[in-house]
Amino acid sequence: MPVQLGLPRRRGAAGPVPLPGDRPAVAGLVDRQGRLATDLRVSLTDRCNLRCTYCMPPEGLDWLPASRLLSDDEVIRLVTVAVQRLGVTEVRFTGGEPLLRKGLEGIVAATAALRTVAGEAPETSLTTNALGLARRAEALAAAGLTRVNVSLDTLRAERFARITHRDRLHDVLAGLRAATAAGLGPVKVNTVLLRGVNDDEAPDLLRWALREGYQLRFIEQMPLEPHGAWDRSKMVDAQEVLDALRPHVILTEEAPGSRGAAPAETWRVQWDDDGTVRTGVVGIVASVTRPFCADCDRTRLTADGQVRDCLFATREHDLRGMLRDGASDEQLADAWRTAMWGKLPGHGIDDPAFARPTRPMSAIGG
Ligand code: SAM
Ligand code: SF4
Repeated sequence: MPVQLGLPRRRGAAGPVPLPGDRPAVAGLVDRQGRLATDLRVSLTDRCNLRCTYCMPPEGLDWLPASRLLSDDEVIRLVTVAVQRLGVTEVRFTGGEPLLRKGLEGIVAATAALRTVAGEAPETSLTTNALGLARRAEALAAAGLTRVNVSLDTLRAERFARITHRDRLHDVLAGLRAATAAGLGPVKVNTVLLRGVNDDEAPDLLRWALREGYQLRFIEQMPLEPHGAWDRSKMVDAQEVLDALRPHVILTEEAPGSRGAAPAETWRVQWDDDGTVRTGVVGIVASVTRPFCADCDRTRLTADGQVRDCLFATREHDLRGMLRDGASDEQLADAWRTAMWGKLPGHGIDDPAFARPTRPMSAIGG
């Protein structure tokens, strides 16, 4: 008999599934709204070798002490619990910068060797700034990595240095090429547009991505930077991105309303590149202006072993302490289920009572 992972799935924000009493005895990561989390984001470090202005101050942050970080074996144990007992089918490694984790190839190999509840290999991917990816893309692909998402906000070296405080654009571009050569596609490129900094570059970035065969996704800036400078009125939103692209390319929205749990809404793109017709897809992750909370299928594990049910959660559940105190796999799984059961219907950015999480994005795992 198939394992029952969750409650019947409901879509839309019509309200909670009426369930009496406490959490039901199902195997998967369900919450009170009837959502089932199958997509695990694992942060492997809070450290980074860039200092993107919207993410980290130039001097860095107070890094998590080594004693609190999960070891490679501890990461693998928790990922195994998630895939084998909790119905997780996709595992994305992130950070901070996940390529700074020396044991990354081993963690990826152990993850790719797992089998989901349905008996398949989990999809195993990486979100990275690509520094050093040129050297490691082949080994990561050999370890079983399926895909990469690379973050890049500009194609101009001086802007890159201004945004990231490091002169490393050439390394990112080399990493992107290596990812394609290693078969880690489709390579997605994540871009945050910042008003007055790179917001004039949307068409150039899209034309470049179409030529190179990358899937570009613009991400609305979220209130997750550590210094609290986010200002919604200054954010470059999804509509502005579309308005900036339309004079340059033909955009056709892909099946409006069908993005499901995928964060990006996508448009098919067509562009006449001096007689060569280029086609592709562009995505917009409009977490602020068009939130997708009602369909969210994510669960998160921080580098210090805390489960978070949302990027914007203000509560965490400690699995590291349980693990180090000798908890069994089933006890860990059950604590994870309890953590997810309480997931709120939405992130509440638009609510006047919205409280920012105390951890910045780099310590949660983007
Ligand atoms: N260092 C890796 C990278 O940059 O891809 C992984 C971690 S980073 C936190 C993951 C993603 O979060 C990146 O695409 C980055 O642009 C995005 N990000 C960081 N801070 C953000 C913010 N305040 N709003 C929206 N996206 C943000
Ligand atoms: Fe580092 Fe990624 Fe944050 Fe940039 S967005 S500072 S690359 S963690």
